[in-house]
Amino acid sequence: MTRQVVSFHYILRDEGGQVLDSSSQDQPITYLEGSGAIIDGLEMALKSFSPGQKRVVSVAPEKAYGLHDPQQIRTIDRKQLPVAEVNIGDMFQTGPDRHAPVVRVVAIEGDKVKLDANHPLAGQRLIFEVEITEKRTATPEEIDHGHVHGPGGHHHH
Ligand SMILES: [Zn+2]
Repeated sequence: MTRQVVSFHYILRDEGGQVLDSSSQDQPITYLEGSGAIIDGLEMALKSFSPGQKRVVSVAPEKAYGLHDPQQIRTIDRKQLPVAEVNIGDMFQTGPDRHAPVVRVVAIEGDKVKLDANHPLAGQRLIFEVEITEKRTATPEEIDHGHVHGPGGHHHH
């Protein structure tokens, strides 16, 4: 089965219309189909789009960053955190590994701090305004490596 390399520009908004993220003007996002580089719901929708098309894609939380899981919220003593001052919205990594889960401070009550390990976009419907700039067939080497080569992708030295 052939796989495509897809390049696109996007503006991501939440349901209230607030802009959360976007591609940069001069550099579209480029991904290899099936490599898990972008969220499932968006990849599925982009399969049927042609270059030059501009569309709006609405992705349910289940196909984006998952539902918000209340089990992922826990309360700890403020002094367990490695910093003197704590503010709502602060993020902490839960281990020395750079892939360790990240938790976000969502509430501070006296000596207690409430931490949420859900992705910040968990539970949210995401509205993408998308324009496909290019689609091409992936090379066997790209499929082998699991990523895109060339502009917008990996450069091996
Ligand atoms: Zn490679």
